[in-house]
Amino acid sequence: MHYFEYRNGKLFAEDVSVEDLVKEHDTPLYIYSAKTFKRHFEAFDSAFEGIDHLTCYSVKANSNLCILKMLSEMGSGMDIVSGGELFRALKAGVDPQKIVYSGVGKREHEIREALISDILMFNVESRQELEKINQVAVEMNTKARISLRINPDVDPKTHPYISTGLKKNKFGLDIEQALESYKLARDLSGIDPVGIDCHIGSQLTSIEPFIEALNRIKKFHLQLKDLGIEIKYLDLGGGLGITYDEETPPHPVEFGKAIKENLKDLNLTLILEPGRVIAGNAGILVTKVLYTKESPSKNFIIVDAAMNDLLRPSLYGSFHRIECAEQKDGPAKMADVVGPICETGDFLAQDREIREVDQDELLAVFSAGAYGFTMSSQYNSRPRGAEVIVDGDKVTLARRREVYFDLVDLEEQCF
Ligand SMILES: *Cc1c(COP(=O)(O)O)cnc(C)c1O
Repeated sequence: MHYFEYRNGKLFAEDVSVEDLVKEHDTPLYIYSAKTFKRHFEAFDSAFEGIDHLTCYSVKANSNLCILKMLSEMGSGMDIVSGGELFRALKAGVDPQKIVYSGVGKREHEIREALISDILMFNVESRQELEKINQVAVEMNTKARISLRINPDVDPKTHPYISTGLKKNKFGLDIEQALESYKLARDLSGIDPVGIDCHIGSQLTSIEPFIEALNRIKKFHLQLKDLGIEIKYLDLGGGLGITYDEETPPHPVEFGKAIKENLKDLNLTLILEPGRVIAGNAGILVTKVLYTKESPSKNFIIVDAAMNDLLRPSLYGSFHRIECAEQKDGPAKMADVVGPICETGDFLAQDREIREVDQDELLAVFSAGAYGFTMSSQYNSRPRGAEVIVDGDKVTLARRREVYFDLVDLEEQCF
């Protein structure tokens, strides 16, 4: 459920029309709905009511400070994957005791920064990383709370680029080898092993892989007990999918129920790291039609947003629903919706049925709230667009549109 709806044929974000937002803020424009974000967070978090749990929103899905602040005020923790994301989370006022730090390549300064902030725990992905964290912690005369990220070898049945829990993926520690690392963790003076972690992939549309992973982790937990390692946290990662097109992912309530049933009698705090399911359908990208052209084999709609604004179609071949901001009658046609970038892979949609559009018409690209702006770049020296948050009839400019000077601000003038 989201709050992007047509009223009298015009697309609205909550109580403000997309047309009015564009008049004020131009295109390409990311529009987020505050009510949708809040509803998604509440639906997810409340699905785990009754068990000890902490929802740590995955910052990389949408890391705008205003979004982080809004979620933090609702009680959300954060899952970070870099020092930059730690900086953002702290700046947004997130309680460090609700921050978990994932990622395969944490640098020394990032580890130090996280220890200074006294975050809840590191999700460690290799033996060398464990040793590095220990070294930094010992130097700082402290102890790092850690989980080891287990690779449970479960097929999440999602796009290969976003499946992370298979033996061949770079993430986590092989479940058979992880026990050795836990023994090491137990014996290192700068390390306090407090949890087990896994994250098997993104955009999962069924519950079974989660349960399979959970059951493997539960078995592993018993082996840890035998070693005398008493953990407190079970981090199940993120990955719950959303509807982009025709997918029918489980509702968070269903997901929560299944997890709760499988967690019974386990005296652990559950940590969850949802990203897409909170942010994905809480944002749209609005773009303007520049030109249309028809070639013998294809029709093209050339718009002012491109792969630098929304990379997912180019990177993963992802589907994003595209609708005209104004509903009108007109013949439908098959067309590719493409951006101005000099790459054949620069498209927002291919072979899509869409009504004939005029120059300057506005198109809304749906489900763009997660992995949209955060994956954007300035490729082709295109200043990034603005981000606005609509809450009822209130509009907040959450990030101003970049200007040409932003393109060269960090460069030297070698002349
Ligand atoms: C990306 C990521 C998430 C969030 O994944 P979603 O599919 O957006 O829910 C959670 N945990 C880790 C470790 C991640 O890398």
